[in-house]
This record gives sequence, structure tokens and C-alpha cells, in this order.
Amino acid sequence: YLAFLVLACLVCGYLTRRYFDRRMTLATDMRKGMRNGEFHLVYQPLVELGTGAFSGVEALLRWNHPSAGPIRPDLFIPVAEENGLIVELTRHVFALAAADLRTLGLPPHAHLGLNVCAQHMARTDFVDDVEALLRRIEGLGPITLVLEVTERAALPDSEVVRANMRRLRERGVQWAIDDFGTGHSSLAYIEQLEADFLKIDRAFVNSVGTDAVSAVVLETIITLARKLDLRMVAEGVETARQSAFLRAHGVQFGQGYYYGRPMRARDLGAWRQAFVLD
Ligand code: C2E
Ligand code: CA
Ligand code: CA
Ligand code: CA
Repeated sequence: YLAFLVLACLVCGYLTRRYFDRRMTLATDMRKGMRNGEFHLVYQPLVELGTGAFSGVEALLRWNHPSAGPIRPDLFIPVAEENGLIVELTRHVFALAAADLRTLGLPPHAHLGLNVCAQHMARTDFVDDVEALLRRIEGLGPITLVLEVTERAALPDSEVVRANMRRLRERGVQWAIDDFGTGHSSLAYIEQLEADFLKIDRAFVNSVGTDAVSAVVLETIITLARKLDLRMVAEGVETARQSAFLRAHGVQFGQGYYYGRPMRARDLGAWRQAFVLD
């Protein structure tokens, strides 16, 4: 029995150590990766559903690890959030976006969407980081910066967060609640954030024409957003049927493979030339 206990402890210890070692390695590799230019951004177009007009892009981070190959953001963003590296990583994203601006060639009043996290928003230097980016955007014409905050992680209800948001709003920044419907604090979030956009999570968009319960949730979200006078972006639109449903229900913007995949900045011009919404 004792031998079994000792063995169990050893196995447990080994597994936790491996788990934490991997996370440590990932953090070290991320730092190195930022220095060595292993990260780049891809941009996914947003389309105005009523007119089919291009309305802007969301920037999404990509990491090409030198030995492991491409690593999905779903894997490394949570690790970066855990060990605080997310702040450095987001600054890196801001710098990459600024460097891509000229190549992107966004038209006047287009939206540039970037993902930010609660941890960063609660820091006093958050505004400085965003303002550094704004100064570079302003050199290229009137482009609206839209910061996306996921509602999965709770945003601290702090004076710093409120002050930061207020200051950036005064500078013309707009706010979007990301992954709406998947968190637990949806309504509190809307109040706290005074958001401009709700991004409807693709789980609900996928339900169009299939899952009856989620479809009811989708219609409820749409009704709610309308009553609160929030503009909506439907995420993960993959089919003509979903697109038509969303447009018919008054959702203003769509984003998803049906319109365009995330792409390198240099490919956006060709996409815009070719895009027609049927
Ligand atoms: P998100 O912000 O909800 O981004 C949308 C995700 O859905 C992206 O995955 C995008 O590639 C994917 N997507 C877009 N259209 C479709 C579609 O039609 N069908 C399907 N199945 N998927 C679609 P991605 O790029 O893998 O990013 C995953 C998540 O990682 C993002 O979810 C976001 O939460 C996080 N993330 C990505 N880049 C950044 C970043 O720069 N900073 C931070 N903080 N988080 C990021
Ligand atoms: Ca997002
Ligand atoms: Ca989302
Ligand atoms: Ca998501």
C-alpha cells in the first residue's frame, strides 16, 4: 500500500512538473519570439450586411514557433494571461498593427479592431500604450480604433478601468464586447463598458437553421442589443443562409469565412477588389 502511495506521489509530481515546465518554456519562447519576429498579424474583414460594404478589419495574432511550427492563439494567449506576459504581447501586437497600417490601406472611417485583455486595461499605463498606437494611426487618416474585450474573463470593476476607458473614449476609441453570450456577466458588462458593439459569438451564429435552443438565444441577443442601441457584429459567419438570417434580423456587421478569412495585410487589397456580397 505504501509503495503504491509513493508511486502515485511520484507520478503526480512528475506530471505537474511537466505541466509547469511546458508553461515556463512557452513563456520564455514567447519572449524570444517577440525579439526574433516570430509573430505576425492577420486581418479578417468585417462587412456591413445591409450594403455589402467593407467596414474594417480585426487583427488576429499568429505565432510561428521555430521548432513547433504555428501555435494557435487559443493556446498561447491564456498562458500569456496567466503569467502577465500578455501586456508585453499586446504592446507587441500594437507595434505590429502600426507597422502594417500603410500596407492595409484602410479607407477613411474604417474600423481597426484589436483584442485587449482586462489585466492590461486595469493598469495605469494602458492609456499610454493605446495612445502611442493612436498617434501612428492618426498619421494615416480618420480610422476608428475598436478595442475588443472578451466577456469570458471578468473585468475588474475598478476606478482605473473606468478612467482608462473614459479617457480613450474621449480620444475616439470605441469598445466592443467580444464573444458575447458565452460569459456569465453579460448584462453587468454592458453597463460597465458602455460598449459600442456587441460581437455575437460564433456558437450562436452556427445555430442558425440547426439548433433550436441556441437560435432562440441568438434572437434574444439581437433583441437585447437593439433595445440597448448597440451595434452588432456577428462572428464566424460561414454560410449564405446565416448571412441572410443575420441581415434580415437587423445585425449590422458580419465577420467570418463566408466573407473572408484572416489574411496578411498585403492580401487585403486584392480581397477588397474581388469581394461582392450576394
Ligand atoms: P476571437 O477574438 O473571437 O477571434 C475570432 C476567431 O474566430 C479567430 O480565431 C478567427 O480566425 C476565427 N474565425 C473567424 N471567422 C471564422 C469562421 O467563419 N468560422 C470559424 N470556425 N472560425 C472563424 P483565432 O485567430 O484562432 O483567434 C482565437 C482567439 O484568440 C481570438 O478569438 C481571441 O480571443 C484570441 N486572440 C487572437 N489574437 C489576439 C490578440 O492579438 N490579442 C489577444 N488578447 N487575444 C487574441
Ligand atoms: Ca476578438
Ligand atoms: Ca470573438
Ligand atoms: Ca471567440
